[in-house]
Amino acid sequence: MSITRSAKGSRYKGYRSYQYLEAGVDYQPVALPPEVGRVPSKPVAVSAAQEERVQRLLRDCLVISLHDHTAIYPLHAADARNRFGRAVTGYEGLSISGLDAFFDTPNNFWKWDELIHGLGMRLADLAHQDFVVPARTLAEIRAAKANGQIACVFTLEAATVIENELDRLDVLYGLGIRLSGISYSMSNALGTGGREIGDGGLTAFGRQAVKRMNKLGMAVDVSHASDQTSLDTIAASSVPVFITHAGARSLWNAPRMKPDAVIVACAERGGVIGVEAAPMTTLVTDQGTQTIDTVMQHFEYVLHLVGIDHIAFGPDTSFGDHVGQLRVSHPHLFNDPRAHGGLTFEPFDYVDGIENPGEGFLNIVRWLVAHGYSDGDIAKAIGGNIARVLEEVWT
Ligand SMILES: [Zn+2]
Repeated sequence: MSITRSAKGSRYKGYRSYQYLEAGVDYQPVALPPEVGRVPSKPVAVSAAQEERVQRLLRDCLVISLHDHTAIYPLHAADARNRFGRAVTGYEGLSISGLDAFFDTPNNFWKWDELIHGLGMRLADLAHQDFVVPARTLAEIRAAKANGQIACVFTLEAATVIENELDRLDVLYGLGIRLSGISYSMSNALGTGGREIGDGGLTAFGRQAVKRMNKLGMAVDVSHASDQTSLDTIAASSVPVFITHAGARSLWNAPRMKPDAVIVACAERGGVIGVEAAPMTTLVTDQGTQTIDTVMQHFEYVLHLVGIDHIAFGPDTSFGDHVGQLRVSHPHLFNDPRAHGGLTFEPFDYVDGIENPGEGFLNIVRWLVAHGYSDGDIAKAIGGNIARVLEEVWT
């Protein structure tokens, strides 16, 4: 597989996670798959002239992924590594990604001490190189782009770790967390989770939490929250709310996807919807499998519903065996028909064309160029809209 190294990745000098330590002496290394070329995922076909345009767009636009996992899977190979060990960042893969910034989440976000360990460990690793840099402001993201670096914004999929203590939101903000989900699949003290059958919406404590996040300048995400919790959160927030990684339930009738009413409410309030591409998510009824084409069908559906100013990409990809990881962490996706609204599809091992964070945005921009989108619309969709909302939320 040939690697097109974008200029912005040239700052990468070959650093590997924790190389400041001695593997086998200071920690036990775990064999991991390669970040690049693990599976024969195909580039989106474009002409030479189109590829030139793709590279120019990646160079000139502020390119931001609203949700990805840049640690290398499988984490289940050593669960202790996930909880109290060392997540390995896919620096090499990021060096060819074309990204200027990505929103990432420490891998364990259920328990306070595990989250603090995971976040601190990744920050310690980042501190030993200068290619991927933690960012807490838009100015830091823009500076990273100008310096040929990639900015990493730490986020949480859900605010479950705060239990019922509002002040922990301040602590998380202090530690660099700049966006948090409300609830994950299961309910928590803030609101109903996306997999629950009953839907009580945002709790009284959840409303307090949203207000505190607004005051702190921590962005709010409802990707995994229930429908009513999503609507309540959008209404309760004094600033626009993100759906960082989801798709349209009208195309794939799964609880993990968002109904039109939630997508429209998010956009009407000024928010942005990041289109999801993780395995087992943005499928399309009657299409049989998930590829970059089904992902982009969700993009076009949301685009036509709410317009170009309210769309982005939160591919939610990872380096390594994502499907293998999901078999362990999300078994319901494989054995509970309710996870897909009773719809069926052929099993697959990876999402062709958008398999990992190293190729996601390259192929998204290729797809947009190949399908006739203008430079202005592409600039908005691959980061411009996110920056506009962050300008308002992160103050
Ligand atoms: Zn998620």
